[in-house]
Amino acid sequence: MANGFTGKILEIDLTDKEVKITDLDMEDAKKFIGGKGLGAKLLWDRTEAGTDPLGPENPLMFVTGPLTGLTAPTSGRYCVVTKSPLTGTFNDSHCGGFFGPELKKAGYDVMIITGRSEEPCYLMVEDGDVRIEDASELWGKTTTETTLALREKYGDDKLRVAGIGPAGENLVKYAMINIDTHLQKERGGQAGRGGAGAVMGSKNLKAVAVKGTGKPSPARVDEFKEVSGEAYRITREDDFVPNRTKYGTPIWINPMNEYGILPTQNFQRATFEDAENISGETMEEEIVEKDVSCFACPIRCGKHSVVTEGEYEGTRLEGPEYELLALLGSNCCMGDLNAVSKASLLVDELGLDGISTGNVLGWAMECFEKGILTEEDFDGLEPRFGEVKPYIKLVEMIANREGIGDLLAEGVMRAAEKVGEGSSDFAMHCKGMEYPGYEPRGSPGMGLAYATSDRGACHQRAWTVRAELEMDERFSAEGRAELVKETQDERAAAYSLVMCDFVPFGVDSFVDMFNAATGFDLSEEEYLRSGERIWNLARMYAVREGFDRKDDSIPERLKEPLPDGPTAGNAFTDEMFDEMLDQYYELRGWDENGVPKESKLKELGLEFSL
Ligand code: SF4
Repeated sequence: MANGFTGKILEIDLTDKEVKITDLDMEDAKKFIGGKGLGAKLLWDRTEAGTDPLGPENPLMFVTGPLTGLTAPTSGRYCVVTKSPLTGTFNDSHCGGFFGPELKKAGYDVMIITGRSEEPCYLMVEDGDVRIEDASELWGKTTTETTLALREKYGDDKLRVAGIGPAGENLVKYAMINIDTHLQKERGGQAGRGGAGAVMGSKNLKAVAVKGTGKPSPARVDEFKEVSGEAYRITREDDFVPNRTKYGTPIWINPMNEYGILPTQNFQRATFEDAENISGETMEEEIVEKDVSCFACPIRCGKHSVVTEGEYEGTRLEGPEYELLALLGSNCCMGDLNAVSKASLLVDELGLDGISTGNVLGWAMECFEKGILTEEDFDGLEPRFGEVKPYIKLVEMIANREGIGDLLAEGVMRAAEKVGEGSSDFAMHCKGMEYPGYEPRGSPGMGLAYATSDRGACHQRAWTVRAELEMDERFSAEGRAELVKETQDERAAAYSLVMCDFVPFGVDSFVDMFNAATGFDLSEEEYLRSGERIWNLARMYAVREGFDRKDDSIPERLKEPLPDGPTAGNAFTDEMFDEMLDQYYELRGWDENGVPKESKLKELGLEFSL
């Protein structure tokens, strides 16, 4: 453990109950960095076109990066990589907390789980001792119950646990993996997007518990100390970081509302009259109990909150984060912070991705209000926008696949295809993954970012909002392709290290820390080229699965003019979107159908054929 990597991969086959430890290919580590990039390479090598995401052969991989577990700002991060049951393509779901560093301390860069156990099981990883244990008593439990039961069993309140709730067991297509619990002093986390929880459930795997005693260290110790010390200094002195600490991600609710970018009423509007009630400022005043942090992070943007009045009094939770306030909040016209907090706790405890859940609920409410789905379809519920009771009940029904919850558990794309009657026009997704909390008619680069994101609609691959707010013409195609492409490449590299979105330092710090940790000597250009290589590899994965230009699309809803607020009248046209997409493909060196050209692949050292 002297170069940021442990050099070891832990492989567990749940069908044959076999455990083996293999060597990390250091050439791959150099080319693909770690985290997202290394995960993409492993997924490429270990699946083939048409692999069933919920079949035993689909690997579920916990992948750390060269900075995971070292002393550097936000170095607690890692990702879960698998083929997504929601989209049918590559998925990397990123997570903070303490699980990644613990996996490193146990001696592994990557943990790959394949196969399917006949009975519910969990994994106990204690350094070199890896056991597949019976989980029949854990099956059916919530994520917190699972973590606490395992901590009690092993007498260790610091045992790190990645577990699924009923949603993962029931193969809800957007089930997530929850890490640890909100009932602890530090931050937990979620591998939220893309249905990694369903992949885990399909393996009859309830949880993975990890405990390690090693100590990851960098290749060039003094140099690493110096460059990570500089990154800590920049973080401490940054002007915006105190706001992040005080309000967390919800700091963006009020500005997004003021700029006309806050999804409201299933993206029918982009301003919400009750935004202030669910804002970071109101949260801070009414429910936040304390700030919590991931491993080695000085930003401490996490919130532990408790509802202090009303029907949900006593509800304790981590968050809610911006995305849940936007999707479970304004997108469902839910201006009651206590109700949104209750729903946020439920999605974490039952193991659902809150972004997808908020979209599915918004779509279901619109279907109900338009008479496409009726009270009878909803087993007597009347899910109108802003109505608390049916909203809370539907979250539980989805996780348990009860009644209409069975349809909604398939995600908004499949549910709309089944229901028909024009409801696909307002099913907000790309490639099956539901839209995050930034309205593209207020920030058009986000439309391109969602359409071209490697894992389906995702705000983290290229968040163009801040840059677009500073542009002369906010609703225009101009310059968006460059902005999206450059951000995607830069983020692909950062998500491979793995670093958090919220650090205030730039590429130079990332490269300095990467080199000092690994002993490599990459230039900034080579590092960014790795990001481009990783992005193209993920694209080739999608191409191998049959995705192309037709899938890089925006929902019909975005072609309707927004009715009010500062972005009133904004609507995409096919011409505007095609212009952005053509420019983007050209910049990427892809053909007009969105397929990377051979020359581009060669230039990036990705010389393989389909
Ligand atoms: S900034 Fe927030 S999410 Fe990122 S590592 Fe720190 S505490 Fe975790």
